[in-house]
Amino acid sequence: MTDSTSPAPSHKNNSVGTQNSQSDDTVIAQMCTLIDAIKTHNYAYYVLDNPKLEDSEYDQLRLSLIELEEAYPDLIQPDSPTNQVGDIPLSAFTQVVHDIPMLSLGNVFEYDDLREFMRRVNDRLSDAQQNPEYEMELKLDGLAVSLKYERGQLVQAVTRGDGRVGEDITQNTKTIRNLPLYLTDAKDLSLLEVRGEVLMPKAGFERLNRLAEENGEKVFANPRNAAAGSLRQLDPAVAASRPLAFYAYSVNQGLPETIDTQSVALAWLKDIGFSVSAVEVVDSPRAAQAYYESIIETRDELPFEIDGTVIKVNSLGLQQQLGFLSREPRWATAYKFPAETVMTRLNTIEWQVGRTGQLTPVGKLEPVKVGGVTVSNVTLHNFGEIQRLDVRAGDMVSVHRAGDVIPKVTRVWTDQRPEDSEPVTLPTNCPVCDSPVVLPDDEALARCTGGLFCPAQQQEALIHFVSRRAMDIDGLGERWLISFFEHGLVKTVADIYELHNHRDDLITYEKLGEKSVQNIIDAIEASKKTTLPRFIYALGIRGVGEGTAQNFAQQFGDLDSLMNADMEALIETPDVGTITAELTYEFFRAQHNIEVIDKLIKAGVHWDNVEQVAAGDLPLDGQTWVITGALDSMARDEAKAKLQALGAKVVGSVSAKTTALLAGDKAGSKLTKAEKLGVKVVSEDEFLGLVKS
Ligand code: NAD
Repeated sequence: MTDSTSPAPSHKNNSVGTQNSQSDDTVIAQMCTLIDAIKTHNYAYYVLDNPKLEDSEYDQLRLSLIELEEAYPDLIQPDSPTNQVGDIPLSAFTQVVHDIPMLSLGNVFEYDDLREFMRRVNDRLSDAQQNPEYEMELKLDGLAVSLKYERGQLVQAVTRGDGRVGEDITQNTKTIRNLPLYLTDAKDLSLLEVRGEVLMPKAGFERLNRLAEENGEKVFANPRNAAAGSLRQLDPAVAASRPLAFYAYSVNQGLPETIDTQSVALAWLKDIGFSVSAVEVVDSPRAAQAYYESIIETRDELPFEIDGTVIKVNSLGLQQQLGFLSREPRWATAYKFPAETVMTRLNTIEWQVGRTGQLTPVGKLEPVKVGGVTVSNVTLHNFGEIQRLDVRAGDMVSVHRAGDVIPKVTRVWTDQRPEDSEPVTLPTNCPVCDSPVVLPDDEALARCTGGLFCPAQQQEALIHFVSRRAMDIDGLGERWLISFFEHGLVKTVADIYELHNHRDDLITYEKLGEKSVQNIIDAIEASKKTTLPRFIYALGIRGVGEGTAQNFAQQFGDLDSLMNADMEALIETPDVGTITAELTYEFFRAQHNIEVIDKLIKAGVHWDNVEQVAAGDLPLDGQTWVITGALDSMARDEAKAKLQALGAKVVGSVSAKTTALLAGDKAGSKLTKAEKLGVKVVSEDEFLGLVKS
């Protein structure tokens, strides 16, 4: 951390063991730094609803201060916030003093700490009261609100504020849809005080932030801040438009006397019209752990965020007996989940090359525990994402990992950016094979152009090269090809044509046998005679499918002309856009690719040059065709290539300008439209006659 409000890292490890090793002045200075930082962050979080740190990082600050205070109790500062709840509310709302203070909760993170909490409870109970029953609830991640009902009528809603004084948010609270404004079953109670959590369901939060982003407005860090910000909107109409919900978790005044447990109190709240969360009564630490783990399993399915469970002594009588510490009750604690979003430093960004030549930036992190797992790498997807996040090497970032989801960077803390940081640039050359890298216009994906040579892409290039529609080396199945590749027998596609020199090796190779080897060698030999479109297609240039390969062959007539073509000439080829033109251009500029092509030709791969037909000489020149429905004799792509070879342009939708519609089986709306517009409809049989002639 580099901001001035953060402590030096040594504070985090402060322990009793270091006691007396530091002068009082040093300790006080450390405490004061932490106190300033915590107060700044409390204000940003509780008052402005706009945190400047992830919760996990804030919790570390608090923990550092608590540890220091435990080690040096004589030096505790009078203004320490460790015993404080929330922060003093903003003055825009009327301030209300709570009848009964609204406290926070202590928290535990592990089973041993949970048992320790239960042990502390036992310590305060008599022998007869040992091991009491506990009640467990979801720890809803919103903000605490106290509601007062008089004779069943909602009369006041107040935020927790600093625990003693909160803000009157009655008007805004009335807009929450699942919050009862009138309780028929409580009409005889002069006063009922119910407390609970106002939260924003996940779907509503995402919608709100999406809209805010579109309108260039403030985006909320999490649903909890969004709920708090919405409730404390000065304009009730804006608050009303926010998707909020209320879940009740306690009755603080007016509970019928016959009810003596927390679990029954919640059941009663439900009966009289409140939403309450999933509740379970447990009688042992193990049962509590089982509930906690079952909630971890299902938390993603909940419509709202929770950050743990809450465990409460079930008997209201025992609760009263146990009482409170300054900031929290002794009879309850939060059993929190491991943090799913944490902050860490992104040390460097490395570029990995995928099987298709795509360059993926990977962030190398200062290892950090998130969602219970240590994470040291995070994918940044593509160059566009780096620009969107504006992330740089050296930045503090938030890393989010929920369930089995791949960790991702959700936020960059630019206010903590090192001064000497530089924006990320795309590498000009492939980190694996050094071929040039291209980032075609309009594409977020950068690619290595050394498709035939780049070790990262070779396996994919090999499989494509031998495939039926490319060089059609049927006898050399994918399984053997990959095996040869993995054993170093074949590296580039040119090595396929050298395999006959390794006949003896192959025969002994994984018991392949003489006959099989001969079949493979024959198939390779047979593939040497091919066509120019197939060969171009087999090269595996990104964006160059069969149709484009056909068009290139037609446009340039021979391979050399295509290889030497400039961008302009490439773009003149029918149906070739700038991205494909650029990828093709760069492919033939990568020296390694040229070497592989040379080797292929030297090995005997050959074809007849395509007779270029002058415009107007092809039978379907100037015609526009559309294909629809399923064809019996060939795939639609093949039919498209055949029509293009005859000079037709093949497009996706029927219009008055369409010359003909080739209609296969189950033709639908396109056929109806063609008939309506009087466009000629050609059956598959008629089409076959046409392409044969
Ligand atoms: P808390 O949220 O951890 O726990 C207490 C609260 O839990 C109660 O006030 C109540 O509102 C709520 N709660 C939810 N479900 C409940 C249930 N079933 N029964 C009873 N209570 C329930 O404590 P807190 O004091 O409100 O806030 C501390 C949290 O705020 C920490 O997670 C901390 O990281 C975060 N924080 C972050 C920053 C920051 O800068 N990022 C600053 C301040 C606080």
